[in-house]
Amino acid sequence: MSPSDLVIRAPYVVTCDDAMTVIENGAVAARDGRIVAVGPAAAIPIVGAELIEAKGRILMPGLINMHCHAGDSLFRGLVENLPLEPWLQTVWKAERAILRPTTCRLGAELGLAELLLSGVTTVMDMFWFPEETVRAAKALGIRVATGGIFFDPPGMDGHLADRRLADATAFFDAVEDEPLIFAGCLPHGTYTVSPQHLQNAARLSRSRGGFWCTHAAETAAEQATIIERYGRRVITHLAELDLLGPDVVLAHCVHLDTAEIDLLAASGTHVVHNPMSNLKLASGFAPVPALLAAGVNVTLGTDGAISGNDLDMWLAIRLAATLHKAATGNAAAVTTAEALAMATRNGARALNAADRLGSIEPGKAADFILVDIGRPHAAPLFDPVTHLVYSAGRGDVTDVFVGGRRVVEAGRLLTADVGALVAAADALRPAIAASVV
Ligand SMILES: [Zn+2]
Repeated sequence: MSPSDLVIRAPYVVTCDDAMTVIENGAVAARDGRIVAVGPAAAIPIVGAELIEAKGRILMPGLINMHCHAGDSLFRGLVENLPLEPWLQTVWKAERAILRPTTCRLGAELGLAELLLSGVTTVMDMFWFPEETVRAAKALGIRVATGGIFFDPPGMDGHLADRRLADATAFFDAVEDEPLIFAGCLPHGTYTVSPQHLQNAARLSRSRGGFWCTHAAETAAEQATIIERYGRRVITHLAELDLLGPDVVLAHCVHLDTAEIDLLAASGTHVVHNPMSNLKLASGFAPVPALLAAGVNVTLGTDGAISGNDLDMWLAIRLAATLHKAATGNAAAVTTAEALAMATRNGARALNAADRLGSIEPGKAADFILVDIGRPHAAPLFDPVTHLVYSAGRGDVTDVFVGGRRVVEAGRLLTADVGALVAAADALRPAIAASVV
């Protein structure tokens, strides 16, 4: 067995491996940021290692939030009670007035701080000035998958469509050696980006081994727009443009017919389910049970705090495991193991990082979190997976490790001054409020 520099013992280790193995009285050993051993505590030697006795806690992998706009945290609660299309028009007005590199950095730090404190160790983020998101991620110590935005109308960064490809290429060059960053291309959607620009983005991401992500089939109105414009449904449109595949991550996929589900499954395209955003914007109920039955890799996201009003992955997990039961009339729809996998290992797979992230297994990055079970809502605890999905919340996350580095300790973020972030965001409030008047 390899020597280790960190050993954590916990009454339960929820590994989120293929079999969703739970080890009672378990331990995890890590060295140089990687997991070197997992097993019963008695079998893991601690010689020479820092020992953390996580009494009354569950040890589990860090959560992977596959769809977020962290910088949009600045606009939380600003635009309410509208469906997506008119809502977007107001959101874009506010973004255009407020967003600069400095405000994007502040919004990203605010959002990423919220994510880390809730146990998210990797997030896919789509936002203006993605290089500011990278700076924020490096400062706070969270993994981020991001990259160039493609958007045909004039952008909130002041850039026009004809320089998007150059911006995105420069992004790939800039983050080539950044260990916390996954680079890709993130066109906004089929209704805001032309087929040619969508394909330019994919040519770039594929030539650089990166991911390609867009919003797809979020609303019925979006489907109607694409049918009117191109004579085919959104997923068929993407398929015809050769924009499906294992490098493709599609956010939402709420309005799909069976042919579209088959296209997603056959191509190995990944889907991000964003239940809170879909509920609040009245977008609808994604056909998650049908996607799972077809073999589609379904991951989970919060979307931005401007649509879901916070970045709570625990709420996403609980909604993913409950709302499809009501929507289908089947109390067995979406199991607890499926919901937890969506928030961990499935995200790693969508990032082409299943060998490195998403579960507690030897060889993977030491990205893990501790969840307090010494609280009234955790007793009695018959099954840790059931507890994590239906009863746990982000307030239960006490400690967070990314690559073996502790970034949250006893509920406190060690890598940023949260009070200063909150104060800076609040100082912007009058200007943000005035931006939509
Ligand atoms: Zn989104």
